Amino acid sequence: MLEVNGLAVAYGAIEAVKEVSFTVAEGQIVCLIGANGAGKSTTLKTVSGLLRPRRGEILLWGRPIHRLPAHAVLAAGIAHCPEGRRLFTDMSVEENLLLGAHLRKDRDIAADMARVYELFPVLGQRRTQRAGLFSGGEQQMLAIGRAMMARPKLIMFDEPTMGLSPIMIQQIMQTIAVLRSQGATVLMVEQNALAALTLADQGYVIDLGRTTLSGPGDQLLADPRVHEAYLG
Ligand code: ATP
Repeated sequence: MLEVNGLAVAYGAIEAVKEVSFTVAEGQIVCLIGANGAGKSTTLKTVSGLLRPRRGEILLWGRPIHRLPAHAVLAAGIAHCPEGRRLFTDMSVEENLLLGAHLRKDRDIAADMARVYELFPVLGQRRTQRAGLFSGGEQQMLAIGRAMMARPKLIMFDEPTMGLSPIMIQQIMQTIAVLRSQGATVLMVEQNALAALTLADQGYVIDLGRTTLSGPGDQLLADPRVHEAYLG
């Protein structure tokens, strides 16, 4: 479904991503793990059209998307749930969800909102409250719900468990598994390598801007190099 080949991305003179390649098959959860500053967020931002690659290509079902603006990437079916959630904290749950659907022209938005409330009952119960009043985990749920409202083919999560309690981490990971069981395809960046690789069908290690290791999640979990660097 998604193919990233030889990606390089720079901020001025700093080449944050040097040589990143990976593929995401339809229906899978694929996880990119790596240390702080390895280039994971930069990779996701480039897939979503917020940054332009210096080299390499990004193909969605064989079609190059790396020159498209972000709204066109979203329209092509890729939603981005950014690091730090980026909600509109003065707006209500419902308003935040509606913003996630702003590019859609069909009228099935109410049904999708009901689907989000089914997945996260707390959002439905408090749908008129300001997003800023919610806990970190609840805000992450809302960020996931907002991304779902775009009806994406591929949904990307940047550090969805950052700053959350162990119970909430488990709940967010379970939700991501539910999304897969409902047919979604997921590309995820995580510092929490154990939680991410436990869930992932396929994992990639990014080290200093390069993909250095890859394999099924359980295989990477058992790899001594992954253990030493990211699970120790
Ligand atoms: P983190 O988990 O900390 O977000 P990461 O693997 O996602 O790490 P990136 O955020 O992609 O890493 O950052 C990769 C490198 O690019 C880092 O050295 C970072 O300092 C640098 N960088 C990130 N954003 C910018 C920016 N806007 N301008 C300049 N350098 C940046």
